[in-house]
Amino acid sequence: MTDTIYLDNNATTCVAPEVFEALTPFLIDEYYNPSSLYDPAHGPAEAITASRKQVARLLGKARPDEILFTSCATESNNTAVFGTIAANPDRRHIVTTGVEHPAIFSVGEDLQRRGFEVSFVPVDTDGQIDRVEFVRALRSDTLLVSIMHANNETGVIYPVEELSRITKETEPSIIFHTDATQTVGKLPIDLRGSFKNVDLLSFSGHKLHAPKGIGALFIRRGTRCRPFLLGGHQEGGRRAGTENVAFIVGLAKALELAMENHDEDEARIQAMRDRLESELVERIPYLEVNGKNAPRLSNTLNVACHFIEGEGILFQLSAEGICASSGSACTSGSLEPSHVLRAMHIPFSAIHGSVRFSLSRYTTDEEIDKVIEVFPGIVNNLRRLSPYWDVKKNEPRPEAMEMLTQTERPQ
Ligand code: PLP
Repeated sequence: MTDTIYLDNNATTCVAPEVFEALTPFLIDEYYNPSSLYDPAHGPAEAITASRKQVARLLGKARPDEILFTSCATESNNTAVFGTIAANPDRRHIVTTGVEHPAIFSVGEDLQRRGFEVSFVPVDTDGQIDRVEFVRALRSDTLLVSIMHANNETGVIYPVEELSRITKETEPSIIFHTDATQTVGKLPIDLRGSFKNVDLLSFSGHKLHAPKGIGALFIRRGTRCRPFLLGGHQEGGRRAGTENVAFIVGLAKALELAMENHDEDEARIQAMRDRLESELVERIPYLEVNGKNAPRLSNTLNVACHFIEGEGILFQLSAEGICASSGSACTSGSLEPSHVLRAMHIPFSAIHGSVRFSLSRYTTDEEIDKVIEVFPGIVNNLRRLSPYWDVKKNEPRPEAMEMLTQTERPQ
Protein backbone atom coordinates (compact mmCIF):
# COMPACT_ATOMS: atom_id res chain seq x y z
CA MET A 1 0.00 0.00 0.00
CA THR A 2 1.21 3.54 -0.75
CA ASP A 3 0.66 6.56 1.45
CA THR A 4 -1.61 8.09 -1.17
CA ILE A 5 -4.72 9.74 0.23
CA TYR A 6 -7.28 9.05 -2.46
CA LEU A 7 -10.22 11.46 -2.39
CA ASP A 8 -11.31 11.23 -6.02
CA ASN A 9 -13.84 8.43 -5.75
CA ASN A 10 -16.36 10.14 -8.05
CA ALA A 11 -13.76 9.71 -10.82
CA THR A 12 -13.11 6.06 -10.08
CA THR A 13 -12.77 3.69 -7.13
CA CYS A 14 -10.40 0.88 -6.18
CA VAL A 15 -11.65 -2.65 -6.78
CA ALA A 16 -12.91 -4.15 -3.50
CA PRO A 17 -10.94 -7.28 -2.46
CA GLU A 18 -14.20 -9.29 -2.33
CA VAL A 19 -14.97 -8.20 -5.90
CA PHE A 20 -11.50 -9.15 -7.08
CA GLU A 21 -11.87 -12.55 -5.48
CA ALA A 22 -15.27 -13.15 -7.07
CA LEU A 23 -14.19 -12.21 -10.59
CA THR A 24 -10.69 -13.73 -10.98
CA PRO A 25 -11.82 -17.34 -11.58
CA PHE A 26 -13.47 -16.08 -14.77
CA LEU A 27 -10.19 -14.66 -16.03
CA ILE A 28 -8.05 -17.72 -15.41
CA ASP A 29 -10.00 -20.98 -15.01
CA GLU A 30 -13.42 -20.26 -16.43
CA TYR A 31 -12.35 -18.11 -19.36
CA TYR A 32 -14.58 -19.82 -21.94
CA ASN A 33 -16.80 -17.87 -24.28
CA PRO A 34 -20.26 -18.01 -22.67
CA SER A 35 -21.88 -18.45 -26.11
CA SER A 36 -19.96 -21.68 -26.84
CA LEU A 37 -21.79 -24.96 -26.75
CA TYR A 38 -19.29 -27.23 -24.95
CA ASP A 39 -19.74 -28.00 -21.25
CA PRO A 40 -17.00 -25.78 -19.75
CA ALA A 41 -18.71 -22.71 -21.28
CA HIS A 42 -21.82 -23.33 -19.19
CA GLY A 43 -20.14 -21.99 -16.03
CA PRO A 44 -19.49 -18.51 -17.48
CA ALA A 45 -22.95 -18.44 -19.08
CA GLU A 46 -24.58 -19.32 -15.76
CA ALA A 47 -22.45 -16.71 -13.98
CA ILE A 48 -23.85 -14.03 -16.30
CA THR A 49 -27.41 -15.21 -15.68
CA ALA A 50 -26.91 -15.18 -11.92
CA SER A 51 -25.26 -11.73 -12.01
CA ARG A 52 -28.07 -10.30 -14.13
CA LYS A 53 -30.65 -11.63 -11.64
CA GLN A 54 -28.68 -10.20 -8.76
CA VAL A 55 -28.33 -6.71 -10.32
CA ALA A 56 -32.03 -6.69 -11.26
CA ARG A 57 -33.09 -7.69 -7.74
CA LEU A 58 -30.87 -5.10 -6.06
CA LEU A 59 -32.31 -2.28 -8.15
CA GLY A 60 -35.81 -2.89 -6.78
CA LYS A 61 -36.91 -6.15 -8.32
CA ALA A 62 -36.37 -5.21 -11.95
CA ARG A 63 -36.77 -8.12 -14.34
CA PRO A 64 -33.45 -9.76 -15.28
CA ASP A 65 -34.20 -9.27 -18.98
CA GLU A 66 -34.43 -5.51 -18.31
CA ILE A 67 -30.70 -5.37 -17.44
CA LEU A 68 -28.26 -4.90 -20.30
CA PHE A 69 -24.55 -5.16 -19.51
CA THR A 70 -22.39 -2.59 -21.32
CA SER A 71 -18.76 -1.48 -21.16
CA CYS A 72 -19.30 1.73 -19.15
CA ALA A 73 -21.83 4.41 -18.28
CA THR A 74 -20.83 6.42 -21.35
CA GLU A 75 -21.95 3.51 -23.52
CA SER A 76 -25.14 3.09 -21.47
CA ASN A 77 -25.98 6.80 -21.88
CA ASN A 78 -25.21 6.77 -25.61
CA THR A 79 -27.31 3.63 -26.05
CA ALA A 80 -30.20 5.22 -24.16
CA VAL A 81 -30.17 8.35 -26.32
CA PHE A 82 -29.24 7.00 -29.76
CA GLY A 83 -31.22 3.77 -29.22
CA THR A 84 -34.46 5.64 -28.47
CA ILE A 85 -33.86 8.07 -31.34
CA ALA A 86 -33.36 5.17 -33.76
CA ALA A 87 -36.49 3.40 -32.51
CA ASN A 88 -38.71 6.51 -32.61
CA PRO A 89 -37.73 8.47 -35.72
CA ASP A 90 -40.88 10.63 -35.68
CA ARG A 91 -39.88 12.62 -32.62
CA ARG A 92 -36.93 15.02 -32.57
CA HIS A 93 -37.19 16.89 -29.26
CA ILE A 94 -35.12 16.00 -26.20
CA VAL A 95 -35.09 17.53 -22.72
CA THR A 96 -32.03 17.43 -20.46
CA THR A 97 -30.15 19.80 -18.12
CA GLY A 98 -27.14 22.08 -18.36
CA VAL A 99 -25.28 20.08 -15.71
CA GLU A 100 -25.25 16.55 -17.14
CA HIS A 101 -22.03 14.57 -17.43
CA PRO A 102 -20.47 15.03 -20.91
CA ALA A 103 -21.72 11.53 -21.80
CA ILE A 104 -25.16 13.17 -22.03
CA PHE A 105 -24.35 16.88 -22.31
CA SER A 106 -22.06 16.52 -25.35
CA VAL A 107 -24.47 14.05 -26.93
CA GLY A 108 -27.17 16.74 -26.59
CA GLU A 109 -24.93 19.35 -28.20
CA ASP A 110 -24.09 16.92 -31.00
CA LEU A 111 -27.79 16.24 -31.59
CA GLN A 112 -28.45 19.98 -31.83
CA ARG A 113 -25.79 20.25 -34.55
CA ARG A 114 -27.61 17.43 -36.36
CA GLY A 115 -30.90 19.28 -36.34
CA PHE A 116 -32.60 17.86 -33.23
CA GLU A 117 -34.21 20.22 -30.77
CA VAL A 118 -32.61 19.90 -27.35
CA SER A 119 -33.86 21.85 -24.32
CA PHE A 120 -31.17 22.24 -21.65
CA VAL A 121 -33.15 23.06 -18.50
CA PRO A 122 -31.27 25.59 -16.32
CA VAL A 123 -30.29 25.16 -12.67
CA ASP A 124 -30.03 27.72 -9.86
CA THR A 125 -26.87 28.79 -8.02
CA ASP A 126 -27.12 25.70 -5.82
CA GLY A 127 -27.31 23.47 -8.88
CA GLN A 128 -30.98 22.62 -8.34
CA ILE A 129 -33.17 22.19 -11.38
CA ASP A 130 -35.63 24.95 -12.24
CA ARG A 131 -38.93 23.02 -12.00
CA VAL A 132 -40.95 25.70 -13.79
CA GLU A 133 -38.55 25.62 -16.75
CA PHE A 134 -38.59 21.82 -16.65
CA VAL A 135 -42.37 21.65 -16.96
CA ARG A 136 -42.29 24.35 -19.64
CA ALA A 137 -39.78 22.32 -21.66
CA LEU A 138 -42.00 19.21 -21.88
CA ARG A 139 -43.99 18.95 -25.13
CA SER A 140 -46.40 16.48 -26.66
CA ASP A 141 -43.74 15.68 -29.29
CA THR A 142 -40.87 15.24 -26.79
CA LEU A 143 -39.11 11.93 -27.34
CA LEU A 144 -36.81 11.66 -24.35
CA VAL A 145 -36.09 13.32 -21.02
CA SER A 146 -32.64 12.63 -19.57
CA ILE A 147 -31.91 13.95 -16.07
CA MET A 148 -29.05 12.70 -13.96
CA HIS A 149 -29.74 11.29 -10.49
CA ALA A 150 -26.77 13.07 -8.88
CA ASN A 151 -24.11 15.32 -10.27
CA ASN A 152 -20.57 13.97 -10.41
CA GLU A 153 -18.92 17.33 -9.71
CA THR A 154 -21.07 18.81 -6.95
CA GLY A 155 -22.91 15.74 -5.64
CA VAL A 156 -26.23 17.62 -6.00
CA ILE A 157 -29.09 15.12 -6.07
CA TYR A 158 -31.94 15.60 -8.56
CA PRO A 159 -35.57 14.67 -7.75
CA VAL A 160 -35.82 11.89 -10.32
CA GLU A 161 -38.91 10.35 -8.73
CA GLU A 162 -40.81 13.65 -8.99
CA LEU A 163 -39.47 14.65 -12.43
CA SER A 164 -40.25 11.26 -13.96
CA ARG A 165 -43.78 11.39 -12.51
CA ILE A 166 -44.35 14.91 -13.88
CA THR A 167 -43.05 13.73 -17.27
CA LYS A 168 -45.47 10.81 -17.46
CA GLU A 169 -48.39 12.89 -16.19
CA THR A 170 -47.66 15.46 -18.91
CA GLU A 171 -47.28 12.94 -21.72
CA PRO A 172 -47.13 9.20 -20.97
CA SER A 173 -45.31 8.40 -24.22
CA ILE A 174 -42.21 10.46 -23.31
CA ILE A 175 -39.31 8.15 -22.45
CA PHE A 176 -37.56 9.02 -19.16
CA HIS A 177 -33.84 8.26 -18.74
CA THR A 178 -31.66 8.89 -15.71
CA ASP A 179 -27.88 8.72 -15.47
CA ALA A 180 -27.48 7.10 -12.04
CA THR A 181 -23.72 6.56 -12.32
CA GLN A 182 -22.99 8.43 -9.10
CA THR A 183 -25.90 7.00 -7.11
CA VAL A 184 -26.24 3.26 -7.71
CA GLY A 185 -25.17 1.64 -4.43
CA LYS A 186 -25.33 5.02 -2.65
CA LEU A 187 -28.97 6.12 -2.88
CA PRO A 188 -32.07 3.91 -2.82
CA ILE A 189 -33.22 2.98 -6.34
CA ASP A 190 -36.48 1.09 -6.60
CA LEU A 191 -37.43 0.48 -10.21
CA ARG A 192 -40.78 -1.06 -9.22
CA GLY A 193 -41.52 1.61 -6.58
CA SER A 194 -40.24 5.20 -6.42
CA PHE A 195 -38.55 4.88 -9.85
CA LYS A 196 -41.50 3.19 -11.55
CA ASN A 197 -41.71 6.03 -14.09
CA VAL A 198 -38.05 5.68 -15.08
CA ASP A 199 -37.74 3.79 -18.39
CA LEU A 200 -33.96 3.78 -18.76
CA LEU A 201 -31.22 3.98 -16.11
CA SER A 202 -27.45 3.99 -16.68
CA PHE A 203 -24.56 3.20 -14.37
CA SER A 204 -20.98 2.02 -14.26
CA GLY A 205 -19.03 -0.50 -12.18
CA HIS A 206 -15.92 1.53 -11.50
CA LYS A 207 -17.74 4.06 -9.35
CA LEU A 208 -18.72 1.38 -6.84
CA HIS A 209 -15.56 -0.71 -6.40
CA ALA A 210 -15.96 -2.94 -9.47
CA PRO A 211 -13.36 -2.66 -12.28
CA LYS A 212 -13.33 -0.11 -15.09
CA GLY A 213 -14.80 -1.46 -18.31
CA ILE A 214 -18.20 -2.64 -17.13
CA GLY A 215 -21.52 -0.79 -17.00
CA ALA A 216 -25.21 -1.48 -17.25
CA LEU A 217 -28.36 -0.03 -18.71
CA PHE A 218 -31.81 -0.81 -17.33
CA ILE A 219 -34.37 -0.83 -20.16
CA ARG A 220 -37.91 -1.17 -18.86
CA ARG A 221 -39.86 -3.82 -20.72
CA GLY A 222 -41.84 -2.20 -23.54
CA THR A 223 -39.45 0.77 -23.98
CA ARG A 224 -38.60 1.24 -27.63
CA CYS A 225 -34.79 1.32 -27.85
CA ARG A 226 -32.75 -0.07 -30.74
CA PRO A 227 -29.34 -1.74 -30.20
CA PHE A 228 -26.35 0.58 -30.39
CA LEU A 229 -23.83 -2.16 -31.25
CA LEU A 230 -24.75 -4.63 -33.97
CA GLY A 231 -23.04 -7.87 -34.97
CA GLY A 232 -23.96 -10.61 -32.51
CA HIS A 233 -26.81 -12.18 -30.57
CA GLN A 234 -25.43 -11.45 -27.09
CA GLU A 235 -27.52 -9.73 -24.40
CA GLY A 236 -30.73 -10.93 -25.98
CA GLY A 237 -29.73 -9.36 -29.30
CA ARG A 238 -29.58 -5.89 -27.73
CA ARG A 239 -25.79 -5.48 -27.54
CA ALA A 240 -23.41 -7.38 -29.76
CA GLY A 241 -19.98 -8.38 -28.49
CA THR A 242 -18.61 -11.19 -26.34
CA GLU A 243 -19.66 -10.57 -22.75
CA ASN A 244 -17.09 -9.42 -20.20
CA VAL A 245 -17.96 -12.32 -17.88
CA ALA A 246 -15.46 -11.59 -15.11
CA PHE A 247 -16.39 -7.94 -14.83
CA ILE A 248 -20.12 -8.69 -15.00
CA VAL A 249 -19.62 -10.98 -12.00
CA GLY A 250 -17.58 -8.20 -10.36
CA LEU A 251 -20.29 -5.63 -10.95
CA ALA A 252 -22.95 -7.81 -9.32
CA LYS A 253 -20.69 -8.52 -6.35
CA ALA A 254 -19.82 -4.82 -5.95
CA LEU A 255 -23.49 -3.86 -5.95
CA GLU A 256 -24.28 -6.55 -3.38
CA LEU A 257 -21.49 -5.27 -1.10
CA ALA A 258 -22.59 -1.65 -1.51
CA MET A 259 -26.16 -2.52 -0.54
CA GLU A 260 -25.17 -4.79 2.37
CA ASN A 261 -22.91 -2.18 3.96
CA HIS A 262 -24.83 0.88 2.85
CA ASP A 263 -26.22 2.21 6.14
CA GLU A 264 -23.02 1.81 8.11
CA ASP A 265 -20.77 3.11 5.31
CA GLU A 266 -22.96 6.10 4.55
CA ALA A 267 -23.12 7.31 8.15
CA ARG A 268 -19.33 7.11 8.50
CA ILE A 269 -18.63 8.72 5.12
CA GLN A 270 -21.07 11.53 5.76
CA ALA A 271 -19.57 12.26 9.18
CA MET A 272 -16.09 12.55 7.60
CA ARG A 273 -17.35 14.70 4.72
CA ASP A 274 -19.25 17.00 7.10
CA ARG A 275 -16.19 17.40 9.32
CA LEU A 276 -14.00 18.21 6.32
CA GLU A 277 -16.56 20.72 5.11
CA SER A 278 -17.05 22.55 8.37
CA GLU A 279 -13.32 22.69 9.15
CA LEU A 280 -12.42 24.09 5.73
CA VAL A 281 -15.23 26.64 5.86
CA GLU A 282 -14.09 27.74 9.29
CA ARG A 283 -10.37 27.91 8.54
CA ILE A 284 -10.35 29.45 5.06
CA PRO A 285 -11.83 32.87 4.24
CA TYR A 286 -13.52 33.32 0.85
CA LEU A 287 -14.27 29.64 0.49
CA GLU A 288 -17.71 28.46 -0.52
CA VAL A 289 -19.34 25.07 -0.79
CA ASN A 290 -20.79 24.53 -4.25
CA GLY A 291 -24.35 23.21 -4.01
CA LYS A 292 -24.44 24.08 -0.30
CA ASN A 293 -28.23 24.44 -0.01
CA ALA A 294 -29.15 21.48 -2.19
CA PRO A 295 -29.53 17.83 -1.18
CA ARG A 296 -26.09 16.33 -1.91
CA LEU A 297 -24.40 12.95 -2.00
CA SER A 298 -22.89 12.27 1.40
CA ASN A 299 -19.46 11.45 -0.06
CA THR A 300 -18.92 14.62 -2.12
CA LEU A 301 -17.55 18.05 -1.19
CA ASN A 302 -16.92 20.65 -3.88
CA VAL A 303 -15.38 23.86 -2.58
CA ALA A 304 -14.78 27.09 -4.46
CA CYS A 305 -11.69 28.98 -3.33
CA HIS A 306 -11.90 32.57 -4.56
CA PHE A 307 -8.94 34.18 -6.33
CA ILE A 308 -6.86 31.08 -7.08
CA GLU A 309 -6.66 28.30 -9.68
CA GLY A 310 -7.90 24.78 -8.97
CA GLU A 311 -4.97 23.30 -10.90
CA GLY A 312 -2.48 25.00 -8.58
CA ILE A 313 -4.33 23.59 -5.59
CA LEU A 314 -4.36 20.09 -7.10
CA PHE A 315 -0.61 20.13 -7.77
CA GLN A 316 0.13 21.17 -4.23
CA LEU A 317 -2.29 18.61 -2.82
CA SER A 318 -0.61 16.01 -5.01
CA ALA A 319 2.78 16.96 -3.57
CA GLU A 320 1.28 16.08 -0.17
CA GLY A 321 0.09 12.73 -1.54
CA ILE A 322 -3.55 13.83 -1.75
CA CYS A 323 -5.60 13.05 -4.89
CA ALA A 324 -8.57 15.32 -5.57
CA SER A 325 -10.08 16.83 -8.67
CA SER A 326 -10.95 20.23 -10.08
CA GLY A 327 -13.98 19.10 -12.08
CA SER A 328 -14.99 15.88 -13.74
CA ALA A 329 -11.98 13.80 -14.79
CA CYS A 330 -13.12 14.17 -18.37
CA THR A 331 -12.94 17.98 -18.36
CA SER A 332 -9.70 18.29 -16.42
CA GLY A 333 -6.82 19.12 -18.69
CA SER A 334 -8.99 21.77 -20.31
CA LEU A 335 -8.59 25.44 -19.39
CA GLU A 336 -12.31 26.03 -19.75
CA PRO A 337 -14.14 26.14 -16.43
CA SER A 338 -16.53 23.26 -15.98
CA HIS A 339 -19.90 23.62 -17.75
CA VAL A 340 -21.55 22.47 -14.51
CA LEU A 341 -20.16 25.35 -12.44
CA ARG A 342 -20.87 27.78 -15.27
CA ALA A 343 -24.49 26.61 -15.37
CA MET A 344 -24.65 27.30 -11.62
CA HIS A 345 -23.37 30.87 -12.18
CA ILE A 346 -20.46 30.44 -9.80
CA PRO A 347 -18.71 33.86 -9.62
CA PHE A 348 -15.74 34.42 -11.92
CA SER A 349 -13.38 34.73 -8.95
CA ALA A 350 -14.21 31.18 -7.78
CA ILE A 351 -15.05 29.20 -10.90
CA HIS A 352 -11.39 28.40 -11.60
CA GLY A 353 -10.67 27.64 -7.96
CA SER A 354 -13.07 24.78 -7.37
CA VAL A 355 -11.83 21.51 -5.94
CA ARG A 356 -13.79 18.31 -5.46
CA PHE A 357 -13.10 15.81 -2.69
CA SER A 358 -15.00 12.54 -3.00
CA LEU A 359 -14.78 9.91 -0.28
CA SER A 360 -15.37 6.17 -0.21
CA ARG A 361 -15.85 3.47 2.39
CA TYR A 362 -12.05 3.08 2.46
CA THR A 363 -11.46 6.74 3.46
CA THR A 364 -10.18 7.12 7.03
CA ASP A 365 -10.44 9.85 9.67
CA GLU A 366 -6.66 10.22 9.61
CA GLU A 367 -6.77 11.01 5.90
CA ILE A 368 -9.38 13.70 6.49
CA ASP A 369 -7.24 15.10 9.33
CA LYS A 370 -4.31 15.44 6.92
CA VAL A 371 -6.40 17.37 4.36
CA ILE A 372 -7.71 19.67 7.08
CA GLU A 373 -4.11 20.24 8.17
CA VAL A 374 -2.58 21.06 4.76
CA PHE A 375 -5.38 22.58 2.68
CA PRO A 376 -5.61 26.02 4.38
CA GLY A 377 -1.83 26.51 3.96
CA ILE A 378 -2.01 25.62 0.26
CA VAL A 379 -4.80 28.13 -0.34
CA ASN A 380 -2.95 30.79 1.61
CA ASN A 381 0.30 30.27 -0.33
CA LEU A 382 -1.46 30.44 -3.69
CA ARG A 383 -3.37 33.57 -2.71
CA ARG A 384 -0.08 35.27 -1.89
CA LEU A 385 0.80 34.87 -5.58
CA SER A 386 -2.57 36.12 -6.80
CA PRO A 387 -2.79 39.63 -8.31
CA TYR A 388 -6.20 39.93 -6.63
CA TRP A 389 -4.86 39.38 -3.12
CA ASP A 390 -3.37 41.98 -0.76
CA VAL A 391 -0.60 40.05 0.97
CA LYS A 392 -0.02 42.61 3.72
CA LYS A 393 -3.66 42.78 4.77
CA ASN A 394 -4.26 39.12 3.92
CA GLU A 395 -7.52 39.94 2.15
CA PRO A 396 -8.70 40.60 -1.43
CA ARG A 397 -7.66 43.90 -3.00
CA PRO A 398 -10.60 46.37 -3.02
CA GLU A 399 -10.87 46.20 -6.84
CA ALA A 400 -11.19 42.39 -6.59
CA MET A 401 -14.16 42.52 -4.24
CA GLU A 402 -16.67 43.14 -7.02
CA MET A 403 -15.51 39.94 -8.73
CA LEU A 404 -17.07 37.99 -5.87
CA THR A 405 -20.46 38.45 -7.48
CA GLN A 406 -19.55 38.66 -11.20
CA THR A 407 -19.96 35.59 -13.36
CA GLU A 408 -17.95 36.93 -16.33
CA ARG A 409 -14.27 37.86 -16.56
CA PRO A 410 -13.96 41.63 -15.82
CA GLN A 411 -12.94 43.65 -18.90
N1 PLP B 1 -22.16 9.77 -15.91
C1 PLP B 1 -21.71 10.27 -14.75
C2 PLP B 1 -22.67 11.01 -13.86
C3 PLP B 1 -20.37 10.10 -14.39
O1 PLP B 1 -19.94 10.60 -13.24
C4 PLP B 1 -19.51 9.41 -15.26
C5 PLP B 1 -18.08 9.29 -14.94
O2 PLP B 1 -17.50 10.15 -14.28
C6 PLP B 1 -20.02 8.90 -16.45
C7 PLP B 1 -21.36 9.10 -16.76
C8 PLP B 1 -19.16 8.12 -17.41
O3 PLP B 1 -18.84 6.91 -16.79
P1 PLP B 1 -17.86 5.86 -17.50
O4 PLP B 1 -16.49 6.28 -17.13
O5 PLP B 1 -18.22 4.54 -16.89
O6 PLP B 1 -18.11 5.90 -18.93
